[in-house]
Amino acid sequence: MNSMNPVLNTAALQQMDRDSYLHPFTDSKALHEKGTRVVTGAKGVYIFDSDGNRILDAMAGLWCVNIGYGHDELADVAAQQMKQLAYYNSFFGTANVPAIELAAKVKSLAPANIDYIFFTGSGSEANDTNLRMVRHYWALKGQPEKRTVISRENAYHGSTLAGMSLGGMEAMHKQGGVIDGIAHIMQPHWYKESQPGESEVDFGLRAAKALEDKILELGADKVGAFIGEPIQGAGGVIVPPASYWPEIQRICKKYDLLLILDEVITGFGRTGNWFAAQTYNIEADMIPFAKGLSSGYLPIGGVAISKRVAEVMIDGGEFAHGYTYSGHPVSAAVAKANIEIMQREGLIDQVREETGPYLQAKLSELSSHPLVGQVRGTGMLGALELVKDKATREPFDKDIEVAGKVRDSAIVNGLMVRAVGDCLIMSPPLCITKAEIDELIGLLTEAMDRVQTEVL
Ligand SMILES: *Cc1c(COP(=O)(O)O)cnc(C)c1O
Repeated sequence: MNSMNPVLNTAALQQMDRDSYLHPFTDSKALHEKGTRVVTGAKGVYIFDSDGNRILDAMAGLWCVNIGYGHDELADVAAQQMKQLAYYNSFFGTANVPAIELAAKVKSLAPANIDYIFFTGSGSEANDTNLRMVRHYWALKGQPEKRTVISRENAYHGSTLAGMSLGGMEAMHKQGGVIDGIAHIMQPHWYKESQPGESEVDFGLRAAKALEDKILELGADKVGAFIGEPIQGAGGVIVPPASYWPEIQRICKKYDLLLILDEVITGFGRTGNWFAAQTYNIEADMIPFAKGLSSGYLPIGGVAISKRVAEVMIDGGEFAHGYTYSGHPVSAAVAKANIEIMQREGLIDQVREETGPYLQAKLSELSSHPLVGQVRGTGMLGALELVKDKATREPFDKDIEVAGKVRDSAIVNGLMVRAVGDCLIMSPPLCITKAEIDELIGLLTEAMDRVQTEVL
């Protein structure tokens, strides 16, 4: 037992938690019965809980701990910056050194058409910024009615009111309702939504055409932007067909829509390049990012803004928008040091050239497993779609919660994966080694084998 996993009084902590702590994205009643898992430490790709269990974290927290846990260097950077300047704002004509340096750094890594960086505290805030910026941009251009944003069903763009409304999660929309001026089209999910015999290429074009249809229905003079994740993350790691993004790009250009590419998950290395815009050759006007920017060591996010939009915003007088913690000096210093660690360790090259292809190859081998209908993924993102009948793609009865069963079984055996509907999804730290990938795949296979005997 080392300091990473001190054995604490779990029951007492669980009782305090039960008495005082309302959790996000949690069924509280169920949690109160079960008791919360208390995570106490972490190193590399492993987390430790208060009972002394070691768990391989194949989700990198919430898709964010890109460099892995336990880089003391970032603690030193934070302490140093806190002593130098713990806080100052970037409103009304001031700035701090880390924020200025981080803006320059992110711009230097972003696609060539990106010109400016706006900082936020999170990915949700970044998408609130996007919605306001789209509408302000078109107002400045003399087209205030070009204010609707088109998104996709089953998209995730955060949990604030704007982020949730831009997202396409029905369960979230139902709780409190959405704000106006946002429309949703079908998602590019070939396995679930294609017609029998429809090729991936054809399906990708059809899913993109839904954008054009929606623009024509609403009127191009009313639609300001399209927003999409390059790969849907929380929706189930849905990798669109190769035909999809080029067609979306063409349609956005044709009808003069701004393209918002939500890279909160894919930014900072997950697809094997700094941004998925580079992996997929997408030219976006706004790229929200967060998570991997600081590897989750401190909260920070932002929006990378194209020359086209920045020019108008800069000439447009004051943008009456910002957050107290926009460009927070400690978060910015840690984010910059995090990027430097990725560069020094060559993590993104490693994902692109070596460990990403290795993970994908190992996942592909699981397509022969009796439970697995489809394997998806790229870089350090992966998903297994579980089905009852591989030939017909017939899903399991919802009440079985097949993916939830596999997840629970995996966690007990030391592997953290996530279940979304009937999918198992993963997003390991970018530092994961081939040996650790083997361990991940082994633990996952064992969990699926156990559940298979129960459900098939
Ligand atoms: C996580 C996420 C967000 C929201 O980020 P928060 O930091 O949780 O507010 C937005 N978009 C995508 C694609 C995400 O995965």
